Amino acid sequence: MTKTFFIETWGCQMNDLDTQRLSGGLKLRGWRRVDDERRANLILLNTCSIREKAENKVYSRLGELRELKADRELQIGVCGCVAQQEGERILARAPWVDFVMGPGNVGHIDEILAGGKTIAVDFPEDRRYDYLALDRPSATKAQVTIIEGCNKNCTFCIVPTTRGREVSRPFGDVLSEVGAAVDSGRVEIELLGQTVNAYRCPVSNRDFGALLAAVAELDGVRRLRFMTSHPAEVNDSMIAAMRDHANVSRYLHLPVQSGSSRVLRRMKRLYTREKYLETMQRIREAIPEIHFSTDIIVGFPGETEDDFQQTLTLIEEVRYGSLFAFKYSPRPGTPALKIGAPVDDAIANERLTRVFELHERIKRERLESYRGRILPVLVEGPSKHDPAMLSGRTDDNWVVNFVADPCTPLGSMLGVRIHDALHHTLRGEAVA
Ligand code: SAM
Repeated sequence: MTKTFFIETWGCQMNDLDTQRLSGGLKLRGWRRVDDERRANLILLNTCSIREKAENKVYSRLGELRELKADRELQIGVCGCVAQQEGERILARAPWVDFVMGPGNVGHIDEILAGGKTIAVDFPEDRRYDYLALDRPSATKAQVTIIEGCNKNCTFCIVPTTRGREVSRPFGDVLSEVGAAVDSGRVEIELLGQTVNAYRCPVSNRDFGALLAAVAELDGVRRLRFMTSHPAEVNDSMIAAMRDHANVSRYLHLPVQSGSSRVLRRMKRLYTREKYLETMQRIREAIPEIHFSTDIIVGFPGETEDDFQQTLTLIEEVRYGSLFAFKYSPRPGTPALKIGAPVDDAIANERLTRVFELHERIKRERLESYRGRILPVLVEGPSKHDPAMLSGRTDDNWVVNFVADPCTPLGSMLGVRIHDALHHTLRGEAVA
């Protein structure tokens, strides 16, 4: 009988891609993926430990899954960053778990299932990245890892512990994977890395800008995105590659974390407020239509009201279209633990609310500014809310739901006239 598996995924794009790798590898070996955990012979939790909340969810989920083991043959595996961080502690707290496997071992799922290891939290030299076996969920988009791990060591961040040191893939490998993805109809490519723009080809030493340009020039790549850029790694070659290739998305996620240089130094972000703004200015001069988005942390140890005010003025000055804000969460083993106690919880919550309120106003004004314009939209499929409409994204990454010929092929680029700006999305009609 065919064996079945169920995967639940939390966290960032890297985890999404690890799930595609796990799922593709298992399917290649005859397993069938199911949407109902009660019908699975194998349950994988692909976890995130970036904040404590995400990690607590994993333990409560494991509690729920325990009873499923009572009446049938079932293996439960914890994968991802909580697995890497907690290791054996997971088996001590939840002994019904069969194995614990960190992100470095995604390519080794076979041996682990064969009972080779119950704890796999090393970073093997041979990461076994079989891109032809990826189980990509979208017919039009493909995510492609170009660099794994992170060397930045921001004082708040668990990523260097859970995903290891930076390892870039050779240029040729990335181009082959993109070529294969395009051949299968994935005309939108997203290059991934925790610090994607720190990419350096291990063979030729070519940098991220060179890779971006080379991918953009491949036949059939209609839109090219990348995630996540570190502000200190933005250089002229990256800006030139974006400017010179119209198929590179006019959307750049550039996490600032704080608007105060004092806090940024304590976070070890490697730039000041002034340097960050200067970098944005350089990008804007080259690509005036760019849409910036960012991540903000509030309540970092020692953050004063004055520091926080500087974050608000920075948000106002840059006018980010999209913004993700988080309350600082102390992470085990990170240097920030020694910097001091987090800001009082009530104050941190209130700061988070103030960030969201300010950003809501800016986003609203931005979305309204699209009314009446005709924007190029890459068609992704039927709209989630109204299947009579199609859905896609603009060059600068806004979701647009629109009226069009329902037979429009997925992956095509259409002009859409914007009629309405809703809470997070735009609405319109395709034009001839
Ligand atoms: N590598 C990327 C970077 O350096 O910007 C993204 C890392 S993380 C997956 C995404 C965001 O989570 C970060 O940009 C940061 O704002 C937030 N984050 C990371 N560690 C955090 C912590 N300890 N507490 C709260 N938010 C955190």
